[in-house]
Amino acid sequence: VQVIEAKFEKTATRREEWPEPPLPEFAFVGRSNVGKSSMLNALARQKKLARVSNTPGRTQALQFFLVTEVPSKAAAREVIRFCDLPGYGYAKVSKSERDRWARMIEDYLRVREPLRAVVLIVDGRHPPSESDRDALAFLRSTGRDVLVAATKLDKLARNRRLHAVREIERELELPQGSAVPFSAVEGTGTDALWARLVELARG
Ligand code: GDP
Repeated sequence: VQVIEAKFEKTATRREEWPEPPLPEFAFVGRSNVGKSSMLNALARQKKLARVSNTPGRTQALQFFLVTEVPSKAAAREVIRFCDLPGYGYAKVSKSERDRWARMIEDYLRVREPLRAVVLIVDGRHPPSESDRDALAFLRSTGRDVLVAATKLDKLARNRRLHAVREIERELELPQGSAVPFSAVEGTGTDALWARLVELARG
């Protein structure tokens, strides 16, 4: 996939603010600080599309991005939309804030018509956390397609990476080979993830 243009579109906290027109859409979610912004930037082939920050848990809104790409072996350009969901599992967030997070995300996941799949980002260095498991169960309960991507794999020795991803698949009861190995630092996994998104976008 070749990305021609990627730009921030808008922020939304209420349903009325969700952008039109309908375009194939993918949502990205993960624990705060997992590397979600870095993954979005890597996919968009930009350095600063989504913010990379050291202050996790701040953004309590949906952020929409428009990405214009040309799939390989096709001439026509296609525009797809990314939705950056606020991160979860940030310890300092109060229960009422967590409830608000859940309500907003649940509303979006249940009714957002053009949403094709949700990318759940986990830290490839560690076994899935309890909040990762909760998030996956929650995403599945909405009936959405979920793609798991394991990021920060550059922090593991090369000969440990595949094993780490298989372990994560096993612990999350995912089919072997279904999780996408990723590293925003090395740029690995972007083509594989794009291939899955394009496939899903075409339906
Ligand atoms: P977010 O809070 O999930 O959006 O995470 P960010 O993208 O802001 O990244 C959080 C921290 O992890 C930052 O210090 C990033 O530089 C770092 N990071 C993100 N992705 C990777 C990766 O693939 N490899 C490594 N080594 N660090 C990463």
